[in-house]
Amino acid sequence: MTPEKVYAALLKAFGPQGWWPVAGEYRKGDYGTPRNEAEAEEICAGAILTQNTAWKNVENALECLRAKKLLSLDAIAGAEPRKLAECVRSSGYYNQKTKKLKAFAEFAEQNGGLGGLFALPAEEIRGRLLSVKGIGPETADSMVLYAAKKPKFVVDAYTKRIFSRLGLLEEKASYDEFQRLFERSLPNEFALFNEYHALLVELAKRNCLNKEPRCGECPLVKQCAYAEGLRPSSSRIL
Ligand code: SF4
Repeated sequence: MTPEKVYAALLKAFGPQGWWPVAGEYRKGDYGTPRNEAEAEEICAGAILTQNTAWKNVENALECLRAKKLLSLDAIAGAEPRKLAECVRSSGYYNQKTKKLKAFAEFAEQNGGLGGLFALPAEEIRGRLLSVKGIGPETADSMVLYAAKKPKFVVDAYTKRIFSRLGLLEEKASYDEFQRLFERSLPNEFALFNEYHALLVELAKRNCLNKEPRCGECPLVKQCAYAEGLRPSSSRIL
């Protein structure tokens, strides 16, 4: 099964996901998000806060930042670390995440704000983001794709789990190898990469669970190497 066919099957089964949510709103099928710099800043803050935690915990942290008027990069740069840490506590590793938010806010300021930064080509933005302490490939690519609206495929643990089970790459393959698999086989389109990542997250939550995948109801079951291995040998397709 090719990445293109996986995408078609998931989109048919689940429909558009409306990722990345802004102010708690999922704008399904609308690829115009972010609509302004404030929304781009919120997405970048969310990309940092979502490291090693579930999105629900990030929502709580973002709501607190919003309520205390600390959600803009200017406000983050000027805030007392203690106040930021209180708000982002729910997202875990809150002291580290406070430092990362502040480092990112300072970096954005030095680069003339997100508007100037995001006008650069995707690879240039990515390279600059990776120079910021606490921003790795997944966070940088999430910002390039969802905040800058430029085509960069985001690879996460869900992507690795699903595509290794499908039999397309080994789970231990590197971030770059997984990214190349998608970027070489798909049209270089922002909206496609945007929707694809969100659909993989949905599949991982609904069906492709870590411990006990629900293969029976999975839209990819007929083409999945892992599911094929679960079937009695007499019923396998030869
Ligand atoms: S068939 Fe099972 S293992 Fe394969 S992608 Fe679906 S849920 Fe995951």
